[in-house]
Amino acid sequence: MKYDLDLSRRVNASDSTPKRLAGLSLPTLKAEMEALGLDPKKAGMRAKQLRRWIHHAGVQDFAAMTDIAKDLRTELAEKFTLDRPEITEHKVSVDGTQKWLTKFQPGVEGESVFIPDVGRAGALCVSSQVGCTLNCTFCHTGTQKLVRNLTAQEIVNQVLIARDELEGWPSSSEDRKLTNIVFMGMGEPLYNLDNVAEAIDTISDGDGISLSRRRITVSTAGVAPKIPELGERTGAMLAISLHATHDDLRNEIVPINRKYDLKTLFEAIRAYPDLGNSKRVTFEYVMLKGVNDSPAEARDLVKLLKGVPAKINLIPFNPWPGSPYECSDWETIETFAEIVNRAGYASPIRTPRGRDIFAACGQLRSESVKKSAAEKRREALANEAQA
Ligand code: SAH
Repeated sequence: MKYDLDLSRRVNASDSTPKRLAGLSLPTLKAEMEALGLDPKKAGMRAKQLRRWIHHAGVQDFAAMTDIAKDLRTELAEKFTLDRPEITEHKVSVDGTQKWLTKFQPGVEGESVFIPDVGRAGALCVSSQVGCTLNCTFCHTGTQKLVRNLTAQEIVNQVLIARDELEGWPSSSEDRKLTNIVFMGMGEPLYNLDNVAEAIDTISDGDGISLSRRRITVSTAGVAPKIPELGERTGAMLAISLHATHDDLRNEIVPINRKYDLKTLFEAIRAYPDLGNSKRVTFEYVMLKGVNDSPAEARDLVKLLKGVPAKINLIPFNPWPGSPYECSDWETIETFAEIVNRAGYASPIRTPRGRDIFAACGQLRSESVKKSAAEKRREALANEAQA
């Protein structure tokens, strides 16, 4: 006798929970409408209406979509939801910084941080992965295992959640509080480029969330082969977590340098499209006491950046429990900044924000397990296999 094992029921069971529509890209919304049985032309039209209601007006109820026929609204409300993912923690710092911990699914939690008075009005720092594979020695997220890449929808939802809280909907262009997006939260965006690019399409869509691509910055620790592609696909601004001016030190503190050394990295940076005075690369440089903060290193930094339209962000090191470094003395940071300034580069010292709620650069880390040495080795091997 032959038995067939029917696994389809399990799939159906999870299908019965309504799908989230908020945060989906226009092509995905269209595909969802086609899956309902609409012909491609109608599906395209409905998708555009939905985009405007969800990402411009910010509605969270299908009943509000007055230009969509009632029957279709009812059907949409049965099959889909406009809910956001669950916010498991929301903290506001004395300096106005806000942090959200969002549960995308059980065991998958990521952090986003809003920093007022950055960019034109305020910047939201979003995560692209939960956990990270890079193991930068000064970064708290580096002590956490990679849980998984975030989907484009999950990345966009971090923006929706911040907008819900900060300015409501539809936000007018004059009194916006949230004007800039930085991919400087948890994870390495260039190891998740497809989803990051799709999220940027949705965030910058003029009929939706409508934040300019020029106000979206993607930061990478140096995944060189993906850097020009990032620019071609997204038109975003580029930031590089540099932190060292020589391969020896960078190999140690930003281990991805062992795979893509400074020479390879700078070739990729020079190939970033449209670089010029109005599109400069931001170089982030964390100030670690006695490690990378000497005047000689400031001068080497200037040499390294020759010919690259650049600005430099000096970041005082933010400590975390068990971190192996100290922040450089204030005088040392100022001397370093002065050398870089004199060479003609803007080099603001980034004031630490949100330290009291553990939201400062490099302090992000969600419910996580500390990596064992064996896990770190496995990840390093996996990284090397990943082109
Ligand atoms: N993986 C990407 C995106 C993360 S950006 C990247 O490395 O660029 C987060 C920024 O904060 C990076 O520049 C990182 O180097 C910096 N950072 C990490 N830990 C820090 C700490 N403890 N103090 C200050 N800056 C830190």
